[in-house]
Amino acid sequence: MESKIVVSPDREKPIRNQHPWVFSRAITSVKGDPKPGEIVTVENEKGRFLARGYWNPKSQIQVRILTWRDEAINEEWWASQLERAFSARHISEFDTAARLVNAESDYLPGLIIDRYGYDEFGKDWLVLQALTLGIDERKQMIAELASDLLGADGVYERSDVDVRRKEGLKSVTGTLVGEAPPNPIVILEGEVPIHVDVYQGHKTGFYLDQRVNRARVVDLLMDEYDSECRMLNLFSYTGAFGLRAASAHPDVRVINIDSSLEVLELGEKNAADVEVSDRIEFFQADVMEFVRDQVGDNELYDVIICDPPKFAHSAQQVDRAARGYKDLNMHSFRLVKPGGYLFTFSCSGAITPDLFQKIVFGALADTGRQAQIIAHLGASDDHPIALTFPEGEYLKGLLLRVY
Ligand code: SAH
Repeated sequence: MESKIVVSPDREKPIRNQHPWVFSRAITSVKGDPKPGEIVTVENEKGRFLARGYWNPKSQIQVRILTWRDEAINEEWWASQLERAFSARHISEFDTAARLVNAESDYLPGLIIDRYGYDEFGKDWLVLQALTLGIDERKQMIAELASDLLGADGVYERSDVDVRRKEGLKSVTGTLVGEAPPNPIVILEGEVPIHVDVYQGHKTGFYLDQRVNRARVVDLLMDEYDSECRMLNLFSYTGAFGLRAASAHPDVRVINIDSSLEVLELGEKNAADVEVSDRIEFFQADVMEFVRDQVGDNELYDVIICDPPKFAHSAQQVDRAARGYKDLNMHSFRLVKPGGYLFTFSCSGAITPDLFQKIVFGALADTGRQAQIIAHLGASDDHPIALTFPEGEYLKGLLLRVY
């Protein structure tokens, strides 16, 4: 018999509204003796069925809901959920990498699956991240189902993320199914080959969430610049923004700044591969120090990309993070040539799009410059956000024209 988790009447509403998390404080009793990771039924105090999910008493989120229907969670169920998520993605021969499963937002809490298509040999690799115990216990089955459904050549696990600690889990990496992927994998994004290190790279190897914004940069350059354009790519990682820009536009010159030497080395390999090394530079520097120096030197750029790492890891860190974003954006504004553009981002889930816009406004006010919002930016289409799960909206950005 499946164990039952009983929730208090005042905590029923969010569950009925399909929020996927049941916190420990919402639970009034546990009927049965569920093992950590096991499937449990969530019911109200009158014994009415509310949802079904997996259980982890070690986590503050004790149940993550998989379904709000009274249906069995078996292998068939997992296969049909995976199929649904996969069929919502469009993979083309020009864009061979995509997020296939976006955890809570794809109604598969705790599960990330990214696809990295390998152009040269036509091979396909999946990278799986298990963020919770419920997924960790089922990852082998999930990896096999995913690989069968997609005909992938291998599934590699990158469960080396801090959040697993909250679930009582250690970091794990390794091949789950098939062959171990090559290092690097060469994907295509907008037809541009990009080296991805799925073993050591950030996230599952690449910032797939920014793909749509990289395309937006390319569109802007093609529309607005018919001669030389100077671009500054702050927090460049392996240089994807700059690489897309320089490959698309023959008069674009890019300076990429990142603090990590390994990612810059991969970036240089990327630039050499598409034969744009003469127009792309990579510098190892702390961005804050770099932008201060550049302002001091009166440097100006036509287009600046500012895509920092997460500054706020929790609600408690919002104030400090806000000061960081403000300072960074203030310097970035000063480095934009009048009439130029700033793409500015925040990937801190704790900072709402509204707050981010206010912070950027505050930064502008301190510079005496003018800026117009050309577009509000978010993550790529393959990173959907369930309307019932606003926590999933972590990446936000503004495209600004600066005078
Ligand atoms: N825009 C990139 C992703 C950026 S991720 C893309 O599209 O692929 C953030 C990057 O910031 C990481 O590569 C990290 O190494 C770098 N970073 C973090 N702190 C930094 C700092 N203080 N100065 C420079 N780079 C930093």
